[in-house]
Amino acid sequence: MNIWQARNAIVDIGRRCYERGFVAATDGNMSCRLSNRLVAATPAGMCKGRLEPEDVVVLDANGKRLEGAREASSEILLHLEIYKERPDVGGIVHAHPPTATGFAVARMPLAECVLPEVVATLGDVPLAPYATPSTAEVPESIRPQLRSHNAFLLANHGTVTLGETLEEAYFALEKVEQFAQVLLVARQLGRISVLTRDDVAKLTQVTPGKAPLDLPCQVCDADASPESGVDEELVREAVRLTMERLRAEEP
Ligand SMILES: [Zn+2]
Repeated sequence: MNIWQARNAIVDIGRRCYERGFVAATDGNMSCRLSNRLVAATPAGMCKGRLEPEDVVVLDANGKRLEGAREASSEILLHLEIYKERPDVGGIVHAHPPTATGFAVARMPLAECVLPEVVATLGDVPLAPYATPSTAEVPESIRPQLRSHNAFLLANHGTVTLGETLEEAYFALEKVEQFAQVLLVARQLGRISVLTRDDVAKLTQVTPGKAPLDLPCQVCDADASPESGVDEELVREAVRLTMERLRAEEP
């Protein structure tokens, strides 16, 4: 990808993120790798839905600004660390999509294997511990799972998604937010039916090469066991009984 293409890709993905409500005001940041030594990134403090190609900043691998009148995004450290650790990654999007960020605030990872297409492409979306935005704490928070995942929830903050290209990183963001919306609706309906271990195994045969980096995830694998299904029923029953008792005790 040349610099001209990278500038246009960042403008395009910034606009799509803003129009979909994945970022508000001047939130969020995107970048793409130009070469082993060069990265193009969004500027700090600008609305990502209103960028022009010349607003894009070009930096070296250490974060030194080489082109662009503005400062690079305040989360540039996160982007640079990911490019160092993951030579396969060509694009990164950090956003605050409302439903997935709600899960991040509730500190609940998107960990159930419930949607075949998500299982086959993203796997689970782990929750990174809280880190102060714009500091080196953020890349440190995702480091333990950086090699095995392409999408992360940042506790009380938002999402980070990676791809071979910037558009792939954006598509991962779309999938994460839709996955969060579906999980939220299923929780509201009161029942989440997870895929069984067999279902997941079959899926990896149907979509060879599309499997995520470490399928199946440990959480889903455990959830798919019959025992945990029984536990969930028990928990629901216990909650129901407790609520009944509390209601009965109300003056
Ligand atoms: Zn953020």
